[in-house]
Amino acid sequence: MKHIARKRFGQHFLHDAHAIAAIVDAISPQAGDCMVEIGPGLGALTQPLCNVLNQLTVVELDRDLAAHLRRNSRLRVIESDVLRVDFNQLASTLGAPGNLRIVGNLPYNVSTPILFHLLEFAQCVKDQHFMLQKEVVDRMVAKAGSSEFSRLSVMLQWRYRMEKVLDIAPECFEPVPRVDSAVVRMVPLATAPDIEVPRLSELVQVAFSQRRKLMRNTLGPWLDQRSFTGTFDLQRRAQEVGVEEYVKLASQLKNTPRA
Ligand code: SAM
Repeated sequence: MKHIARKRFGQHFLHDAHAIAAIVDAISPQAGDCMVEIGPGLGALTQPLCNVLNQLTVVELDRDLAAHLRRNSRLRVIESDVLRVDFNQLASTLGAPGNLRIVGNLPYNVSTPILFHLLEFAQCVKDQHFMLQKEVVDRMVAKAGSSEFSRLSVMLQWRYRMEKVLDIAPECFEPVPRVDSAVVRMVPLATAPDIEVPRLSELVQVAFSQRRKLMRNTLGPWLDQRSFTGTFDLQRRAQEVGVEEYVKLASQLKNTPRA
C-alpha cells in the first residue's frame, strides 16, 4: 500500500526485518492468545503476529490505514482513537477478562496518555509490550535513587512489573525518528495496592514538582493541609523515595478530605 506517513498520528513505520523478528520474539505470541495491537499502521508487526494467532484485534486511528487493514479478514479492526477504547468492554466482548495481551509500536506523541489510559484497565490485562521512545522506557523502569526516577516511574511501578527488553535504532523506521526507541514489557501485579489513584497521582506530582529541593518545601505543606499525622521523612528529595513508600503514604491518606 502506498501511504505517506502522517506526522500528526506519530507515524514511523518499522521496516527492519531483524528488529521486527526480535520484537515478535519478545512478545512470544501463542495461537490461543487474546491479543490487541494498538496502531498497526502498515502491518509490520500485525502480519507476523497474525501468522501465529487465531484472532487479532487492532485499534487504528488513521482512516486510510484502517480501511487497508479491513481487507485482511483475519483481523478485527477497531477504527478509533485508542484513548476512547473501553478495554473492560473489549475484554468481555473477546471473552478474555483478565487475559488481554496488548502490544504496539505506539505513536510517541501520545504514548504517556495511552499508558495512563491503560492503567485504568490493568485488571483485564495479562501483559503489554510497547515500543516507545527509549528515554520514556528508561523513566518507566528506573529505580529510586537514579536520575531517571520520576513521576512516571512511580505511577506505573505501583501497578506493573516492568522491564526493558530491547533497544531499537532509529534506522529501523521509516521515516527515521530523531530519538532512540526501546521495547518495554509490562505485567500487572497480581494484587494491586488498595489506594485512591488520583490521590497517589496528586501527591507524586507535588513531590516531584521541584525535584532538586527537599520535599519539606513541597510535600510538607501539602501534607500539613491534609492534617497528616503519620511519619514520613521530608528531608529527602522526591527521587530518593521508593514506590512502596509513596503507595503507603497514599493509602494512609485514603479517605482524608481534600484541602
Ligand atoms: N505498528 C506500525 C509499525 O510498527 O510500523 C505503526 C507504528 S506508528 C509509530 C503508530 C501507529 O499508531 C500509526 O499507525 C498511527 O496511525 C497509529 N495511531 C496514532 N495515534 C493513534 C491513536 N490515538 N489511536 C490509535 N492509533 C493511533
